[in-house]
Amino acid sequence: MPFTPFHFGPGIVAKACAPHRFWLSTFVAANVLIDLEVLYYLHHGEAPVHRYLHTYIGGVAMGLVAAFGMFAVTVLLIRCLSVDSRWMQEQRSVPKGKLLRESMFAGLLGGVSHVLLDSLMHHDMNPLWPFAQGNALAGTIEVGTLHGALGLTGFFGVILWLFLR
Ligand SMILES: [Zn+2]
Repeated sequence: MPFTPFHFGPGIVAKACAPHRFWLSTFVAANVLIDLEVLYYLHHGEAPVHRYLHTYIGGVAMGLVAAFGMFAVTVLLIRCLSVDSRWMQEQRSVPKGKLLRESMFAGLLGGVSHVLLDSLMHHDMNPLWPFAQGNALAGTIEVGTLHGALGLTGFFGVILWLFLR
């Protein structure tokens, strides 16, 4: 959907619960990558706008792309920047394999949760492609209710994050 920030709520809650180990940047990147598909088809006026990236396979793929991309950026920052911030020290103290696993977890959570949440409201999706056509979950929750719930999740996630800091 074009309202990508609504998807960030669950990620903000996860970040509040595990501030040093949950990669919110990867979670957000996975969600943005998936919705580039919608922007592309909206721009070209072609329906349906939810195609391959709005399937569980597409979501997992974009989650992994985001995970490897953010991991690569982090490793580059650790190696190339001479600034020695607390964040840099934390990242340097963690083995690279663990950093990659953390990034992959956030990317996969972002990708799969995006497809699941979108499938609750978009009738043009085929989330189980290529194994099944159609979207049985579409319309199970009213769009305004879903947006409200996700907005509140994000809001309370920020409050929780600030409170736990
Ligand atoms: Zn979407």
